[in-house]
Amino acid sequence: MTILDGKKISKEIQLEIAKAVNKLNLEGKKTPHLAAILVGNNGASQTYVNAKVTACKNVGFKSTLIQFDNNISEKDLLMKVDEINRDKEIDGLIVQLPLPDHINSIRITEAISPLKDVDGFHPINIGKMALNIPTFLPATPAGILELIKRYNISTSGKHCVVVGRSHIVGMPISILMSRNSNPGNCTVTLTHSRTVNLKNITKTADILIVALGKAEFITSDMIKEGACIIDVGITRVSSKYTKSGWKLLGDVAFDDIKDKSSYITPVPGGVGPMTISMLLLNTLKSVTGFDS
Ligand code: NDP
Repeated sequence: MTILDGKKISKEIQLEIAKAVNKLNLEGKKTPHLAAILVGNNGASQTYVNAKVTACKNVGFKSTLIQFDNNISEKDLLMKVDEINRDKEIDGLIVQLPLPDHINSIRITEAISPLKDVDGFHPINIGKMALNIPTFLPATPAGILELIKRYNISTSGKHCVVVGRSHIVGMPISILMSRNSNPGNCTVTLTHSRTVNLKNITKTADILIVALGKAEFITSDMIKEGACIIDVGITRVSSKYTKSGWKLLGDVAFDDIKDKSSYITPVPGGVGPMTISMLLLNTLKSVTGFDS
């Protein structure tokens, strides 16, 4: 069994990005600039946005954090998005989700210029992704592809089962794994909460990608011997063994499953660290284009 070390791969990617930024600077070209909008004071969102801004600094990007109170109107938020869309200095824009209930997040996502949509959530970019046209890929699915690629895991002709169909993880990764590319060329089964006999399906997976948000949901009796297990889930649970009083668990019962699998991602340290690196990569591509 091999542990897919997302932390290590993520560091390698960030070093490669830092080198690319250095090269851009030496050539007198533009330094990539990411703008992040944060609405309200949701603790988790603040942590995620701060981590993204710090990661930008570490690779030599410029970054701008724009914070609004929870009660900003949808109209004002749309005006800010429009202003950033037209700002030539800014290359990428993310609006941290979730947004307050009075703001329609789909309307905000659609308002972001597809050319600056480094989260890869805009319908135009989702469409391009489905058609295998180079574009910004959603960061977490892109991180999964990159892990698979860097560990040389063969995917062609394999049965890939995805658990969860969210717009940010399950749906896009199911499309990406079925595309005629490498990684890809899988036969994909996308499952969700209405799926009947889930265990019968997960047991046939050569590659199992789990993103449902239920701690240790997948147990060893649900997987095939030698399967590759990608665990996207992150759930914070209380723990009397840690200083903080809590720990993070994945959607997969890691200790129960690890010896039955061929490859497995840990939580934390698997898919999680890859997500930020892929956001940075998208921001770099917004300056260099999609060929490099
Ligand atoms: P969502 O809550 O948006 O979606 C969960 C999906 O799981 C839904 O499609 C739901 O089905 C499905 N589901 C729920 N219960 C079951 C069940 N019993 N059997 C089969 N399917 C089920 O979650 P996200 O995709 O946003 O996130 C999933 C997990 O991944 C979370 O723990 C989240 O924190 C984590 N995450 C981690 C990231 C990272 O960087 N590592 C990034 C994003 C998320 P239905 O559609 O029918 O409701």
